[in-house]
Amino acid sequence: MILETGSHPNTETLVTLALEAGFTQAAPLNMDALLFRSEVRDMCAADRCKHYDKSWSCPPAIGSLEQITAQAARYHRGILVQTTAPTDGDFDMKGFYDGMVLHQRSFDTLTRQVRRMFPDCLPMAAGSCMRCRKCTYPDRPCRFPDRLYPSMEAYGLLVSDVCIRSGLKYNYGPRTITYTACILLD
Ligand code: SF4
Repeated sequence: MILETGSHPNTETLVTLALEAGFTQAAPLNMDALLFRSEVRDMCAADRCKHYDKSWSCPPAIGSLEQITAQAARYHRGILVQTTAPTDGDFDMKGFYDGMVLHQRSFDTLTRQVRRMFPDCLPMAAGSCMRCRKCTYPDRPCRFPDRLYPSMEAYGLLVSDVCIRSGLKYNYGPRTITYTACILLD
């Protein structure tokens, strides 16, 4: 599908565009499900993922909960996208990594396309930014600010809740891994 720069397609058309970009599932985002929760941000601060205060894409660099809630409040619709990939089980690190690379590639493609129509859209990725071998944070600016997407979790969103309330599953069963991201529009 080719959409003109500056056009404003409806959400269903953007869902089709997302599927064409390679996502396995996509749906209109239920904006009522965008609850920015302090308890999710507290999990970031607990640093179980080892990225807290180590990346421009994560808290505290992306701003306080109040700041990002105000930022997101400017948007009135969005799309939710997922990549589900096969794995050999709970310890298949290569399968997890391959799925993440696939998801990242599709998200870069989709975000580039959507930005041509909605330059001020707000992409939220899956997980901490892994684009560089070592993040420049905090000593130097991000190397790729145009492709720096904080995650849904970093925004304080409970991703499973957002998926279910938007009509998608969060988990697609054993021996699969699913990555979820979204783009807010308007
Ligand atoms: S693009 Fe590189 S410098 Fe920027 S947040 Fe990601 S890893 Fe860090």
